[in-house]
Amino acid sequence: MKVLVLNVGSSSIKYQLFDMPSGEVAAKGKVERIGEPMGIVEQKSKAGDIRVEEKVADHGVGLDRVIECLTRGDKAPLKSVNEIGAVGHRVVHGGEKFTKTVLIDDEVVAEVQANSELAPLHNPPNLLGIKVARGHLPKVPQVAVFDTAFHQTMPETAYLYAVPMSLYHELKVRRYGFHGTSHRYVAARGAAMLTKPLEKVNLITCHLGNGSSIAAIRDGKSVDTSMGLTPLEGLVMGTRSGDIDPAIIFYLGRVKKMTNREIDDLLNKKSGLLGLSGKSNDVRELETLREKGDKDATRALDVFTYRIKKYIGSYTAALGRVDALVFTAGIGENSPLVRSLACAGLDVMGVSIDQAKNSGVVRGRETDISSTNSRSRVLVIPTDEEKMIASDTYALAKNS
Ligand code: ADP
Repeated sequence: MKVLVLNVGSSSIKYQLFDMPSGEVAAKGKVERIGEPMGIVEQKSKAGDIRVEEKVADHGVGLDRVIECLTRGDKAPLKSVNEIGAVGHRVVHGGEKFTKTVLIDDEVVAEVQANSELAPLHNPPNLLGIKVARGHLPKVPQVAVFDTAFHQTMPETAYLYAVPMSLYHELKVRRYGFHGTSHRYVAARGAAMLTKPLEKVNLITCHLGNGSSIAAIRDGKSVDTSMGLTPLEGLVMGTRSGDIDPAIIFYLGRVKKMTNREIDDLLNKKSGLLGLSGKSNDVRELETLREKGDKDATRALDVFTYRIKKYIGSYTAALGRVDALVFTAGIGENSPLVRSLACAGLDVMGVSIDQAKNSGVVRGRETDISSTNSRSRVLVIPTDEEKMIASDTYALAKNS
């Protein structure tokens, strides 16, 4: 069965076509700058590469282009749209309702809509993607995979904020956590690397990309994670602050007369590695600057990795026993420096990495970088959220 995985953003559609159950990628592409005067349509497949610059008026037109790229002309990997057996959608916020992947029906659509207030930037485009895809492919089963679902196993001691309970009961203010599909994927791969059943392993998984989060996993289930009601909480990120004293917000309002919108922009888009360095949100660039002795880049990377280390420490306390610490995503997979700084001094907790193995990791390869005397394994595992979505989608669609 061919499974189309869609990740629909406010002005883009990213997609991959999978051959299931093998998991082979038959095509990968994106439509960007939807609604702008000039858009871009790109696709790579064995049949050949496509790149066109043209106006893409809206998401409906965008999905038309995706289906055309997949099914028409000599660079199309499919002969007909009828070959698409199922569509899997990435949906950011599933609230408390969705604890796992679901087949989409009108009720699911209504519930995703209801969660839009919790993720105003993400759920509306995800929902638009679902509506457009259901319109274009009405007979094909469609599946929603939620970023929050994996973390729904957290106990209330981990997900409650210490604010009046009415905020939870009336407004659903609580920790939800994100990147769940990635944490779930690397947890399964981590268990496989340890040759143990997932239900028997305790892990700390560090998803370090432009957005970063860390999760504590006990017996294969998420029991805590660093992102909260929104993806702003937790680790230092490319442009997001992560944890701050919330009183800073009132202080900026009072002293600088900043509006909520301005503070939101400051904490989400101008903070993190970018704010600390004043130079870049990109770890590669910061590493290059650091090598040249740049103090701003050094400071940014030090704050970033110190925060990761603190979370590893607190999640070790929460879990008691840690079978493996996992690094994944753009930075986690590719930066020996970040892994090394984040693990420095953790020998006391049984975590120690072998520097030669750490710097020898081959891109895209699952690697154990722990030193022989490390009590917890330290693993580098390339994440693949799309493959996880394809696999969930196939599992539900093949029986529907
Ligand atoms: P997103 O959250 O946008 O999916 P990614 O997971 O792609 O982000 O991660 C992007 C981050 O990964 C950037 O900070 C980038 O600098 C970093 N990165 C990618 N390759 C390397 C590398 N070889 N060394 C260090 N950092 C890297």
